[in-house]
Amino acid sequence: MSRTYDLDRAHVFHSWSAQAEISPMVIAGAKDCEVWDEDGTRFLDFTSQLVYTNIGHQHPKVVAAIQEQAARLCTIGPPHANDQRSEAARLIAERAPDGLDKVFFTNGGADANEHAIRMARLHTGRAKVLSTYRSYHGGTQTAINVTGDPRRWANDTATSGTVHFFGPFLYRSEFHAVTEAEECERALTHLRRVIENEGPATIAAIILETVPGTAGIMIPPPGYLAGVRALCDEHGIMLIADEVMCGFGRTGAWFALDHFGLVPDLITFAKGVNSGYVPLGGVIISDPIVETFAHRAYPGGLTYSGHPLAAAAAVATINAMADEGIVENAARLGAEVFGPGLAALAERHPCVGEVRGLGAFWAIELVADPQTREPLAPYGGSSPAMNDISAACKKAGLLPFTNYNRMHVVPPCVISDDDARRGLAIIDEALAIGDAVIA
Ligand code: PLP
Repeated sequence: MSRTYDLDRAHVFHSWSAQAEISPMVIAGAKDCEVWDEDGTRFLDFTSQLVYTNIGHQHPKVVAAIQEQAARLCTIGPPHANDQRSEAARLIAERAPDGLDKVFFTNGGADANEHAIRMARLHTGRAKVLSTYRSYHGGTQTAINVTGDPRRWANDTATSGTVHFFGPFLYRSEFHAVTEAEECERALTHLRRVIENEGPATIAAIILETVPGTAGIMIPPPGYLAGVRALCDEHGIMLIADEVMCGFGRTGAWFALDHFGLVPDLITFAKGVNSGYVPLGGVIISDPIVETFAHRAYPGGLTYSGHPLAAAAAVATINAMADEGIVENAARLGAEVFGPGLAALAERHPCVGEVRGLGAFWAIELVADPQTREPLAPYGGSSPAMNDISAACKKAGLLPFTNYNRMHVVPPCVISDDDARRGLAIIDEALAIGDAVIA
């Protein structure tokens, strides 16, 4: 093993892991849609790392912008104005719906959600926050408490003022629905009942991922988000759209909310805004909430809010995405390559229960029994079959994204059709392992 690996094992404490049970792959370099290890073995990156390198690895314009900014001005504190920060805020606000014109910059997605919730609470004077099961909103205290996946359990203080409800997910319907229309209507009735029973006047915000990402890439049925918006309006509840994973091109639109005509009160973003070349996140704030803090200090801030290197990377990323049609490419890939390609896999493999997605944002739901829809790994866990599918993909040169019983197809939005098809062919072979569990 290499010195890098040995030092990692001796000194680096990794996220979400039993430290003695992991064996991290050493990545020596990356370009576009490929990463390689110390031996030069190359992998097609079907993960975009943690679904954030939307523009691919080492985009030359973004690298150059960071280098130029580093030579000019590495850092300046948040009380000052800075050209890159101003321009990044303009480019981001320009892409948000009308009436959301100001950006508060954070270091990543979790703190963006922390601040969005804080703003909603102060704006409404209410404490409670509703969020969905099957969601991920970040690892910091409030963000992990609104999260609806097993990673919350060990962090749940039961005093955080958060309440969970079920969002729509027809394949595993909580509402015994068999059509999208039924699922939508029943999920909205359920949410109305939760709001009524929690006390509408105690609820500051509903936070949801416009398209839930890590929890399974469940596209909301037509009418659902409009229904949530209407419930929020009825009760004076702020709607926070978490676009951390689904924003900035991932779904084939600048924001996933563009697909649904949704206008939230607060939008949170991170990841794709600058493809994670330098850590950056933020909150896009609607005019009434901005007004609340016009003559009353906002009680929150960060040393690195709007860091010039991160802002310069965002400016270069957004401009390159616009100039090179990267968002359009993601939309086209979804319609022409991933949609049909994954549908063909679902036809061929009994272990594929469902495929679903948009743009460069797809999930393959794997099952041990197509009739009962028993997942190929339990909720919150893994299984030998899932581990073997993942290992087979790596062996064939593909870095896969797996979560419980699902594989997500989430490569950089710049991937070529040939590479996209090469990746799908590798997954096709690996899925024979899942089929063998059924046979
Ligand atoms: N929100 C969503 C939807 C996410 O997918 C993530 C990270 O995966 C976060 C928030 C947290 O972002 P970060 O890890 O940058 O804090």
